[in-house]
Amino acid sequence: MKASQLDSVGAMALHTVEKPEAGPGEILVKVLAAGICGSDRHMFKGEYPTAIPVTLGHEFCGIVEAVGPAVTRFVGGELVTVDPNIACGICPACRRAQPNLCARLAAIGVTRNGGFAEYAAVPEGQAFVLPPGLDPVHGAFSEPLACCLHAIDKAEIRAGGSVAILGGGVIGLLMVQLAKLEGAGTIILITRQAPRRALALDLGATHTFDPTASDTVAEVRALTSGGADVVIECAGVPETFRTGIAMTRRGGNFVLFGVTPSGLEVPVTPFDLLINEVSLRPAYLNPFTHDRAAALVASGVLELDRLVTRTIGLEEVADVIASAPAAGEIKVIVRP
Ligand code: NAP
Repeated sequence: MKASQLDSVGAMALHTVEKPEAGPGEILVKVLAAGICGSDRHMFKGEYPTAIPVTLGHEFCGIVEAVGPAVTRFVGGELVTVDPNIACGICPACRRAQPNLCARLAAIGVTRNGGFAEYAAVPEGQAFVLPPGLDPVHGAFSEPLACCLHAIDKAEIRAGGSVAILGGGVIGLLMVQLAKLEGAGTIILITRQAPRRALALDLGATHTFDPTASDTVAEVRALTSGGADVVIECAGVPETFRTGIAMTRRGGNFVLFGVTPSGLEVPVTPFDLLINEVSLRPAYLNPFTHDRAAALVASGVLELDRLVTRTIGLEEVADVIASAPAAGEIKVIVRP
């Protein structure tokens, strides 16, 4: 079969490899759609640890083609979405019900072969069934959506409350839709590109701002009587970390979601955090949220097609991951 492999840091190529077999407790998934994530670019550049060589692709959806020995929940033919994160189940974090903080976390498409291939063998416990006939491209959104749901859980949005979201990539645009589903009354998206701001208004944002054109802290404070109840940082840059905290109201929740380069430092003023009781809430990965993400995707309430800006075949994956995101790119989907 064909698989797009990371061969070494900075080197990725399409290879013909042996089709995997479903081992004990595993299912063989014929991949129908897989999303390219910013993390794939970090892995390509060696900024995030992976196995080498490895087939990347941790956001995917496909049909169960075969089941291995001792598989109990699948017979073959089911449409599934795969939760890539495999927790050990026995470390202190897992035993505290925090699998995203597992000391020995493995991940499909990171530390073992993933979905930029015609087939992937995965443990059956990582797969979640989707309704037959669902667009597999929508199914491939389950993974990023599951991460967003963890952030939304931590945000504690209240009906009628205000939410400011920084960064209008695919994540920010999913967060806008989830904030609307939570019943937020004011939903503000801050991002630089005008088409993304226009799209956000279609998807449920009530206001948008361009951070290069105005003082977004002042804008958000003015709109929300002193600061947003919830701020969700989805850009992963120092500026949005700083401005995001500053636009959170006293007693509000600042959810850190964007990934900044490891080791990068941003100054904060502990005194301000203290006297304003701004709650700093990091949200990492998808603990126990993949099932809800699959259900949400299946429900059809989310606008996902408008987030897909390009569909490619396996032969283009290496080039797309090796290049910076194209202008206007939101989500690139691979159809093996
Ligand atoms: P993305 O496509 O890179 O989107 C981030 C967007 O932020 C950029 O496209 C950019 O859009 C905007 N931005 C950059 N600088 C800005 C600024 N100063 N002010 C406002 N907006 C700014 O990434 P994504 O896929 O949406 O993911 C968002 C972040 O979440 C990334 O850091 C990703 O690594 C992270 N992530 C975290 C988790 C987790 O579990 N915590 C899971 C998945 C992803 P404009 O050009 O329009 O400004």
